[in-house]
Formats: sequence, C-alpha cells, structure tokens
Amino acid sequence: MSDKTIPVSQLDFDGLRPPSPHLTSAHAAWRQRLRHFVDKDIAPHLDDWDKSGTFPDAVYKTAADAGLLGMGFPVELGGLDEPIDLYHRIIFSEEFHRLGSGVVFADLATHWIGLPPIISHGTDEMKDRIARPVLRGDKKMAFAVTEPSGGSDVSGLKTTAERRGDHFIVNGSKTLISGAMRADFILAAVRTGGPGMGGISLLVIEADRAGISRTPVPGLTWYNASIGTFTFDNVEVPVSNLIGTENRGFASLAGQLNIERFSGIAATLAMSRTCIAEAVAWAQQRETFGKRLVDHQAIRHKLIEMISALRVSYAYLDYCIDRFHRGDVPIADLSLLKIQGVKTLEHCAREAMHILAGQAYQGTTRVERIFRESRIFAIGGGTEEILKDLTARQLGF
Ligand SMILES: Cc1cc2nc3c(=O)[nH]c(=O)nc-3n(C[C@H](O)[C@H](O)[C@H](O)COP(=O)(O)OP(=O)(O)OC[C@H]3O[C@@H](n4cnc5c(N)ncnc54)[C@H](O)[C@@H]3O)c2cc1C
Repeated sequence: MSDKTIPVSQLDFDGLRPPSPHLTSAHAAWRQRLRHFVDKDIAPHLDDWDKSGTFPDAVYKTAADAGLLGMGFPVELGGLDEPIDLYHRIIFSEEFHRLGSGVVFADLATHWIGLPPIISHGTDEMKDRIARPVLRGDKKMAFAVTEPSGGSDVSGLKTTAERRGDHFIVNGSKTLISGAMRADFILAAVRTGGPGMGGISLLVIEADRAGISRTPVPGLTWYNASIGTFTFDNVEVPVSNLIGTENRGFASLAGQLNIERFSGIAATLAMSRTCIAEAVAWAQQRETFGKRLVDHQAIRHKLIEMISALRVSYAYLDYCIDRFHRGDVPIADLSLLKIQGVKTLEHCAREAMHILAGQAYQGTTRVERIFRESRIFAIGGGTEEILKDLTARQLGF
C-alpha cells in the first residue's frame, strides 16, 4: 500500500469510531442486533417513508418484538431482561442515526423520557395500563413541554391544570410535540401552582379525553408528519394521573433529560461518521483536473478536519460516560459536549455536502438526508444558548 492510499477499512462508519476501552463484547452484540433491525426493517423503507411523510404504526410493534423498546425497563413490566449501561443507549441512538433515520428514533424512543417517571411514581394500575402496552408497541407516548409561547423558558409555561375535587381541569396548548399525531398518552408539564419552576407538575393525559384536539405541524425539511400541536379545552384529568409530587414536576424528569442529551450527542456523532465515510468514499473515486478529489490538498484537509473534530468529540463522550458510570452527573460537561457534537455534525454535514457537491442532490447518498436533519439537534434537548447558560451557572458564574 502506498503512503498516499487511505486505508478505507478504517474510514468507514465503524472504523471512524475511535476505540474505547469501555466497549465490551456485550456492546458489540447489542450493536449487531440493532444493526440487523435497522437494515432489515427500516433502511429498505426510508425513501418511501420520506415521500409519504410518515412511517407505519406497525414499526412500533416490530421494534418491541425485536426486544428494542424494552431496553432499560423493568422485566416485570415487559422490559428487556438484559443488563444495560449508558453505552447501550448510545449504541441504540448511533445505529438508528447511522443511515439518517433519526425521525424514526425520535418517535420510537419518546417513551425513554415519558415512561420512567410513571414507573418510579405511578400507581400499579397506571403501570399496567400505560407501561405494559407502550413496551409491547401497542400504545404510544408523547412528551409535551413546549408551548406556542416558547420552549426554552420552561419556567414560563402557561398550560394550567386547576384542581377541582378529584380532577384537574387542563387548559392550554403544547406544540412541536414529537409523535403527537399518534400518541395514546401524553406526559405533559402543566402549571398547578404559582409562577416559575416551582409551580409545574407532570400529568399523564389520555389523548382521547374530551376537549383535546390535535393538528399536525409540518416540519422544516423533516418528513415526520406525526409532530403536532395539542390543544386542551377544559380537559378533565383525574388527580390520580399526577406523577410525582405536585409542583415539583421537573425533579422527576432531571435524570431522563440527561439521558436524552446523551442519546442526542450519540446521534450527532453517528451522523458525522456517515458524512465522513461517504465523503471519503466519494473523494477517492471522483476525479477532477486529472486526479482524485482526495489528491487535492484542499479536499484532503477538509476530510482531516472532519475526522479531527469527530475524534475530539468521541474522546469527550467517553470521558462523560465514564463519569456517569461512576455515579457522577457531569451536567456542565454534558452541555458542552452537546454543543460540541452539534458543531461537529453541522461541520461534517456541510463539508460532506460540499465534497459530494452535485452527487449529494441525486438521492443516492445519506449525506443529503443528514444535512436536512442536522439542525434539529441544535434545538431539541436544549439550544446552544440555554446550554451555555446552564454551564455558566454550573461553573459558578
Ligand atoms: C422537530 C422538533 C421536535 C420537537 N419535539 C418536541 C417534543 O417531543 N416535546 C417538546 O416538549 N418539545 C419538542 N420540540 C420543541 C423544542 O424543545 C423547542 O423548539 C426548543 O425547546 C426551543 O424552543 P422554541 O422553539 O420555542 O424557541 P424559543 O424558546 O422561542 O427560543 C428562540 C431562540 O432564542 C434563543 N433563546 C431563548 N432564550 C434565550 C436567552 N435567555 N438567551 C439567549 N438566547 C435565547 C433560543 O436558544 C433559540 O435559539 C421539538 C422541536 C422540534 C423542532
């Protein structure tokens, strides 16, 4: 092999993940299981789902039958009977985003945030009625915080749940909610008390209750028609649907939001790997001015900069996972890592689009899909500004 030849095997999706001493054979087996599912049950349909603007409900069932929806949930409620750690979640997210099928992940994994508070604080009846069918893939959940008046300032949310006897009366609206159009249950953040974070509670609301209407939100360059707006007009919800302590709703969620951030970071890095792999493959075969693209220094440097950003991000990810596994909750580092992951993805998506140029517009590469999907990662799970402010507070500014 000449010095000039890039060893392709190291620059494909798998080779681009820097080795980690923490990844075991159990993780490798889990990855293979997920890859098999994505390649068989998702990849062949992605283009059709793109055109139709949605994916079939049956995918929930197929994913549940493959043992995927139950990951990390109690076996007695239908969860997966295997020990898992954070790397299992990372790998789940990586494999779903490898081909740019992030929208499917966004809907399928909503219960990662929605179910844990119910399992920790809900009654046995609730666990039977909600957790079991969700983990079987028969019912679906949405997690609703954002309102038309804004998503960043959660402390300002306006949807009210006013106590009347043994019911709450819910009024208000939630928008941009993933999976809203097909959700059976909504885990909603509502105002039960005074202003600020201290007046917010979590309420499970059955989506077919009288007074609830929903309308789709046509997403920007996303093909997901199930994102929607809920409107609550004097909706009666039993007090027994309150999750956790009244007016302390966000305390029940904090842990899950950190997990969501980890899976968002994993998504950005997996998509970056796909962008780099496709750009490298194209740069090695496309010729301009009598030589391959990769033989032009400007292009070679672009590839190296992408790989460099990716490696830095993975080193930071492994560091944060290691701290998390030791019982630490590295909130500031997790926020910085999310910003770093998004920057890496946006850089890689842009540069890969640039290297592929016209080829990226012909519907034969994943880069174009990833380019379309990359922006949401800078918004969902905490925007850059919100995460920087959170970090600043953690650092004592
Ligand atoms: C595809 C998609 C799926 C989503 N799914 C869900 C879901 O399932 N459930 C859910 O609850 N929400 C969901 N959201 C909503 C998402 O959480 C919000 O879009 C996000 O929280 C930002 O809120 P916003 O859009 O109202 O922006 P705003 O809060 O109006 O902010 C606008 C801009 O101003 C910046 N900004 C705000 N405050 C400050 C400040 N103090 N200093 C500096 N800059 C500031 C923000 O960073 C942002 O860039 C989804 C959004 C999208 C696009």
